[in-house]
Formats: sequence, C-alpha cells, structure tokens
Amino acid sequence: MNPQAVLKSNFGYDAFRPGQERAINAVLDHQNVLAVMPTGGGKSLCYQIPALMQAGLTLVISPLISLMKDQVDALAANGIDATFINSSLDYAEINERFSQARQGAVKLLYISPERLDSEYFDRLAELPIDLIAIDEAHCISQWGHDFRPSYLKLTDIIHHLPTRPTIIALTATATPRVAEDIKQRLAIQQEVQTGFARPNLSFKVVKDQDSDRFLIDYLKLNPDQSGIIYASTVKEVERLHRLLTKKHFQVAMYHGQLSKEERRQNQDDFLYDRVLVMIATNAFGMGIDKSNVRFVIHDQIPGSIESYYQEAGRAGRDGLPSEAILLYKLRDVQIQHYYIEQSERDEASMTMEYQKLQAMSQYGNTQKCLQRYILNYFNEDAPDCGQCSNCLDTRALQDVTIEAQQVLSCIRRMGERFGKEMVALVLTGSKNQRVKQLHYEKLSTYGLMQQRTKKSVTELIDFLTAAGYIAPDGGQFPVLKITEEGLRVLLGQQKVARKVALKANKSLPEND
Ligand code: ADP
Repeated sequence: MNPQAVLKSNFGYDAFRPGQERAINAVLDHQNVLAVMPTGGGKSLCYQIPALMQAGLTLVISPLISLMKDQVDALAANGIDATFINSSLDYAEINERFSQARQGAVKLLYISPERLDSEYFDRLAELPIDLIAIDEAHCISQWGHDFRPSYLKLTDIIHHLPTRPTIIALTATATPRVAEDIKQRLAIQQEVQTGFARPNLSFKVVKDQDSDRFLIDYLKLNPDQSGIIYASTVKEVERLHRLLTKKHFQVAMYHGQLSKEERRQNQDDFLYDRVLVMIATNAFGMGIDKSNVRFVIHDQIPGSIESYYQEAGRAGRDGLPSEAILLYKLRDVQIQHYYIEQSERDEASMTMEYQKLQAMSQYGNTQKCLQRYILNYFNEDAPDCGQCSNCLDTRALQDVTIEAQQVLSCIRRMGERFGKEMVALVLTGSKNQRVKQLHYEKLSTYGLMQQRTKKSVTELIDFLTAAGYIAPDGGQFPVLKITEEGLRVLLGQQKVARKVALKANKSLPEND
C-alpha cells in the first residue's frame, strides 16, 4: 500500500493536508525530517502512516501525558494497535507494555520524555524501533519558549540505539533559530515547513479599554460560542471566574493550583461542551484538541509571540471563522517583566526572554497586519490578511513625519544610550533630576514636545518602534537605537504615517 491508500483505508481521509505527504515520503526514505506545521495541521499522521507501513515499531515521544491515552484510544478506534508508557503506570504495567512492544504486538509506543532515563534504556534498546517521532520538538531547544531538560537526553539515547531509527521531529512553533537547533541536535537535514498562516483566524488587539467590560460585552454578544480566556496569574483567573460567574455566565477555570481532580473535571466540562467558556492560565491547553473553539481572548499579554500564537491557535481548529483577541494593557507587560526578573536564569537567557517580550509587546503597538506581523516573526511573509483589527482599522492616516523626526533626533542627540522613559522625559521638557544632571535641558530637542503628555510621547515611541524606525537594544532596560529606516526618516527621505483617533468633537453629546 502507498501512503495515500493508508490515509484512506486506516483514517478515512481522501487527501493529504499540505506538507504531510512530503514528510511521510522523507521518513519512508529513511531521511530524518523536521516537520513544522501549524496547530491542527495534521502532524500526527506524518508518523502514524509510516508507522503502519514499516515492519518495526514507532516510538512516539510526547510530553502530553494527559493525552496519550486519548491518542492511543483514537488509534484503536481506527484498528491500530498502540500503547503508552508514562508516570501514570506502575512498574508491572510498564514491564508488560515493554514486552508487548518487543513482541511486535503494537505498532506505536507513546512514551513521555521523563521515562527515557537510564532505568529503561536497556528495555528500549531491545525494541525493534525503526522510527522515532518527537512531538513538541521545540522543547529540546533552549531558544524555545518551552524548554524541557528531559528532552536533551534524547540525543544520547538515539545515538545508542542499535536499530539506528529514522527521526521525525514535529512542532507548531519554531523560529528559524529553534528550527536550526532542533535539526542540529537530532542530526536532521530535511525540513518540511507548511505555511504558518491561519486564514480562518481574525486577530484583534483591543487597547486601553476596560477589559472586564469588554469580556462581559463579548460574552453577551456571543452567548452560544465556546472559547478560552487566558490570564497570566492564578489570582487573575480566579478573579475573572468570580466576576463572570456573578454576571451569570457559565464559565470553568483551570490553573496549576487546582487539584488534579478539579482540573480534570473542569477540562472535561469544557471539552464536552458542558461549559462553553474556560478561564485559564497557560497551564491549560497544550495538546487540547477541541475543534469548535470560536474565540481565544488574552485578558493579559503572554511573554512571547510563540506562546501567543500557540494559545491563540487553539481557536478554529475546525477551520471555521474564529477570533483571537489580545486585550493590551501596559501594566500586563510589566507582569511579564516581573516573571522574567524573578526567574532564575542566566544573563543571556534572561536577555532573550526580554527580547521575546518586546516582540510580543510590539504586536500590541503595530499598525501593520497582525497576521503578517506574526508570520514575519517566524520568518515567513504573506499578503495582508484583510480581516485583522489593523487591516480593518478605518481611521485616516495622518502624516507624523515631523513628530517622528523630533523623536529620532532626540534619541540621536542623547547618544542612543537611553530607553524610552528618559527620551520621553527630555522631549516633554521634564524637570527630572537625572535630565538636569546630564545637562539634557541644553539639548535642542529638550521640550520639543512639551505640549504633549509623557504618556502620549511614549506611545508615539512605541508606535515608531513597532513600525521599525527604532530598535530597542538590550534586555531588561533596552536602549533605543535608530534603524536604517529611521535614519531615512531623519534625513527627510521617507515619510511616516500613523492612524490616530480623531479628537472627539466636544460639541457632540457624550456616548454619541
Ligand atoms: P496537530 O498535531 O498538527 O495539531 P493533529 O494531528 O491532531 O494536528 O490533526 C488535527 C486534526 O486534523 C485531527 O482531527 C486529524 O484527524 C485531522 N486530519 C489530519 N490530517 C488530515 C487529512 N489529511 N484530512 C483530513 N483530516 C485530517
């Protein structure tokens, strides 16, 4: 049988999704391959089909313990023998399953990375493994957003297996750097990348609005739809849960401080549509395969574009129109800052986390197409999506070239050595002690924007940063540097346009 025939006979599908066939053919050709496909893109079939077409065993390494049983059951429903080994089993059961695998009674063996320790190495070495599938492969990279030390053991184990299996690594979120890292660690030469774009998702950034009000109105307007509301802290999840329950919405919650039973119960309530809306921290959702999620709202900004896209991507797995909304507030960026500050990492990886957060924060400030912004982050380009809140922003563009030049010129005169707070202080003509000490009140740009508030100047700087005229340099307290494009603006070779809300006409009654 060929892959196409297996697709039809074992899984009942008529056609491959983008990338699947290429990945399967590479594996059947004994080439190691990295498959980068969006959530819901159909990564599992890339190893399940070869598993059925090869004589030996396929070992699937997956960190999603809670899902292993579901996956094995789903395979069984298609008449495919599979089993799993993870920490939910006792020693006797683990032994029994290893024996089954050794005797060829199963085609796929799912195992969690934590079980790959030396204790079981001899047992693994006895198995007729001809393919190793590594799910959530970004966990192997320290540049990734979800690094797991247990994944590092993989390289060693693979090298020592007598059967020299082929390797397929799979992930939905890999920046070029992470992809390179995965390939290098696992000796992979081939990469199958399918587009990251999620055309059925409408991205939206809602800025400087009362989030509680927004959520209440949104749920009222979408009463029959299933969705997830993400927050950064347990406290905020609980607060929202209380608030929305009080407003008579049926909501469940999920976070790391609930008991295992409560989490299981709440997750099932959501998966089986007994409760439509889940309020959760990022502990919820990895590997959740609920197809009819119509919206994912981030009540608070997450720490990176990788996390955001992965979480937002849980909307619309069935391909139907769905929304991904970020409620952007500056103070939530500070919460993420705090997390990084508290994390016990080395200097270099902290700097990297701060930079990831900056890219995420710029998502909240960009006026470019939001889907495109995300794709660009992953080194992919696409036309404007035409349906995100920026593409649909009908406010008129205003020429802000002069203001942009004022900001850029001030940054330059301050030697490109300061962050946006300090630049804003100088531009607004602040009497701040530090400004005086540095004699910056003598700069020609001092007080150039004194008619504006400091907040509006920092917002302008954020806009210019997100638009690529300024590049923040450094981790926790980045200094502002002028980019090449910024230089062109400064030299009068390029104009800058910004969509700005028109000032409300005071003669109109309020709320009109
Ligand atoms: P991923 O792991 O990439 O997020 P899955 O492997 O869980 O995605 O696949 C998502 C859904 O798409 C599953 O329900 C799967 O059965 C379905 N699917 C995968 N490939 C195809 C295909 N070629 N045609 C139709 N449905 C598919």
